[in-house]
Amino acid sequence: MNNWGGSVSAQHDDGQTGKNLLRHWQDCRTPGAPIPSYEAVVLGSLGRLADRAALVTTRDGRAARILWAGQVFGAWLAQGVEGAEGALSGIVPAEIIPTETLPVDALPIELREPVDEMVAAALTSGQPAYARCDRLAAGVVTSTRLVGVPLGNRWGEPFVLVGFDGASVRTELVQAMFTATDQGILALSTVRDAASRPVDFKIVALNRGAERLLERPAAALQWQRVGQLFPGAVTARTIATLAAMVERGGRAAFELSRPRSDGGTLYLKVEAGCVGDLVSVTMTDVGDIKAREASFRLLFENNPVPMWVVADARDRFLAVNDAAIAHYGYSREQFLERAPADLAMAADAAPAPGLPPTGTLHRRADGSAIEVSLFQRAMPFEGRQAVLEAAIDMTERRRAEARIAHMAHHDALTGLPNRVLFRDRLAEAIARHARDGEAAVLLCLDLDKFKIVNDTLGHPVGDALLREAAERIARCLREDDLVARLGGDEFAILVRGPDLPALADGLVARVIAELGRPFRLDGQDCHIGTSIGVACLPRDGTDPETLMKNADLALYRAKAEGGGTFRCFEPEMDAWVQARRRRENELREAFARGQFSLVYQPLMDARAGRILAFEALLRWHHPEHGPVSPAEFVPLAEETGLIVPIGAWVMQTAFAEAATWPEAIRLAVNLSPIQFRNRDLVETVRGALAAAGLDPRRLELEITESVLLADSAANLATLHALRAMGIRIAMDDFGTGYSSLGYLRSFPFDKIKLDRSFVSQVGENTHCTAIVRAVASLGTSLGIATTAEGVETAEQLAMLRAEGYDEVQGFLFSRAVPGPEARRLIERAREAVPDDRAA
Ligand code: C2E
Ligand code: CA
Ligand code: CA
Repeated sequence: MNNWGGSVSAQHDDGQTGKNLLRHWQDCRTPGAPIPSYEAVVLGSLGRLADRAALVTTRDGRAARILWAGQVFGAWLAQGVEGAEGALSGIVPAEIIPTETLPVDALPIELREPVDEMVAAALTSGQPAYARCDRLAAGVVTSTRLVGVPLGNRWGEPFVLVGFDGASVRTELVQAMFTATDQGILALSTVRDAASRPVDFKIVALNRGAERLLERPAAALQWQRVGQLFPGAVTARTIATLAAMVERGGRAAFELSRPRSDGGTLYLKVEAGCVGDLVSVTMTDVGDIKAREASFRLLFENNPVPMWVVADARDRFLAVNDAAIAHYGYSREQFLERAPADLAMAADAAPAPGLPPTGTLHRRADGSAIEVSLFQRAMPFEGRQAVLEAAIDMTERRRAEARIAHMAHHDALTGLPNRVLFRDRLAEAIARHARDGEAAVLLCLDLDKFKIVNDTLGHPVGDALLREAAERIARCLREDDLVARLGGDEFAILVRGPDLPALADGLVARVIAELGRPFRLDGQDCHIGTSIGVACLPRDGTDPETLMKNADLALYRAKAEGGGTFRCFEPEMDAWVQARRRRENELREAFARGQFSLVYQPLMDARAGRILAFEALLRWHHPEHGPVSPAEFVPLAEETGLIVPIGAWVMQTAFAEAATWPEAIRLAVNLSPIQFRNRDLVETVRGALAAAGLDPRRLELEITESVLLADSAANLATLHALRAMGIRIAMDDFGTGYSSLGYLRSFPFDKIKLDRSFVSQVGENTHCTAIVRAVASLGTSLGIATTAEGVETAEQLAMLRAEGYDEVQGFLFSRAVPGPEARRLIERAREAVPDDRAA
């Protein structure tokens, strides 16, 4: 017996045919013909081999046919083939191919396929080919190897001569299965008592598997009674179960466990069937399955990931783990009452706003939504098909992603969309326009006085201002409109499909009014205001760059016109802005090249007509355009910050000039609010005074309300420091700005200069006359000296005198003149009004 319980049989052959056939075939080969001919191999020379061989051809490419078969081969072939014996003559024909041949196709499948393949292989390779045919009869498998050698055929298609290759191998199938299986198989016979009741079972036969599972050799088991071999309760129960089966007929299946010799436990699944008193028993070791179930339970129950097992139909939960109960907040009972679908939630309840959910939305017991990724795996559970599902909660991760996505597209300070998102929306609007012709308007905003607030009140206050400005803008918009913060104090608004005049009347006016209202910052009201530039799609551009650039140009224009207003883009603006930029550069160069000079305009005692002081005023002598008014270039110098070095130069120059004047004559110098941003202002003034040797008490600094706009502590401190040095501080251009009494009270000014616009109309315009009068009485009541500037006529002088102004300044007395001329004015006045001391 071999491993497979097979046995070598010489039923058809002595096992030598193949060897002989091959040797004969080799011998017939000649050097010129690698494939020997039919005549050489077969005719007259086959001898005893002929009995055990067959000749096959595939004539004309048709299916293979067996031309003849020797007696033994034919008998082997004929087993199970109807009429085969008649068809196969068993006689070797001479040259003539018999008409009675057997198609290979007529053979049963287990022969046909291997023979076909072998014949084809031999013919294509020109070499011997092999086949194995397995045939089954009466529970025995017979394996027969065949060999085929190709033969040349002078009359047509080549032949293949086929013979046995070695002896057949017979295998008892049941025996093979019985032996091969890992399962234990027992044949038992029922032992009955006197009353013919089954009481025990005797082991009739067993396989190796049974020996292994029962841990005893076959000899110790065969012919023994089960009850005596394995005394104990488990065996008693097993015998009772089998006995009941025998009485009843049919089958039984159960599990049992018993101790193993190595100290472990053997888990057996037992299946039994009976034929009369003969019982067959199969025992399967289910220890692995049991162990797998135990580790599954461990992995499942204690897993930190929420998991459950649902029925294959997904209509109910079969089991849930503790993590699922803790995470979802439902009790185990609540879970088991529900269908898995009950966990699901509508997609509009997304837990991370801003990003569409990619997972499944679930509802927890407290009603909150979570986004989960579900991982599923089919598996048997308690004997039926089920699905194990693990739920990974993605909510936190998705929230983080949403936050990051939001941050990438929004401004952290105001929460508004940022430049990136705005550009995207603008591009969408442009695409919409290209598609359905929908127009849109782009507004660029810039807060007018943000920089002053930010520099003087500090960044936290600046931030608060920006937040409030963002809220105010947002309040002016409809739902479709988009507002973004582009950076700094720049905002942009995108309005869909508007009609421009209505937009200007509505939205634009609303935004300007909203931002024009004072902002309550650091306990005080600040006036900020905004300028707006407008560009229209498609009129002013059909790509984001052009539209943004043109809205910016319009904004630049609105700003240059003093702020608090809006401008729509016009093609000329481009040129205008370029010209302005050019002038900025020119200004820078002019200063570097010394094209600036100072002129001095006297301030007179309103009654005595004496020169009390001179105001230094800047002049720019443009090499081409001649003199340029400071009203034109000072704002530009302020915007570019150039006013700081220019201002310092003004002081040095004017101080040096004033130092040459008689002691009694003072000097007035204008200071820009921008110069206050520079923390060194006090030191600059002190240094210039010292350098020129000018007594600070002879200096008057003229400032405008805007310095006090934010009533900044820093600016006030600067003013106090200057005043502490003995410098006088004058409020210039009074009446033009907010002229708030509060500003006058916030600092002890030495002088108020009434703006010349009121003086020029005094007596003609009742409103102006009223203001001229009010400022005079304000000065009297606050104890502050008053100056009226721009006095051109004697009538005006008379009126101002009558109102009680202390000082006057204007063309009536003198224009602003260069230094030498100012000195001559002083000389002439001395001559006209002789000095008391000289007299
Ligand atoms: P401001 O401080 O109000 O200076 C008075 C302006 O009124 C001067 O104009 C002066 O020439 C003009 N003016 C004086 N009397 C009369 C008059 O009777 N009739 C008319 N129509 N005008 C008169 P100017 O020199 O063109 O200066 C304009 C403005 O430029 C100044 O106004 C001041 O705000 C600014 N500015 C001039 N120089 C400086 C400077 O050195 N530094 C700073 N920061 N600003 C300066
Ligand atoms: Ca002035
Ligand atoms: Ca003035």
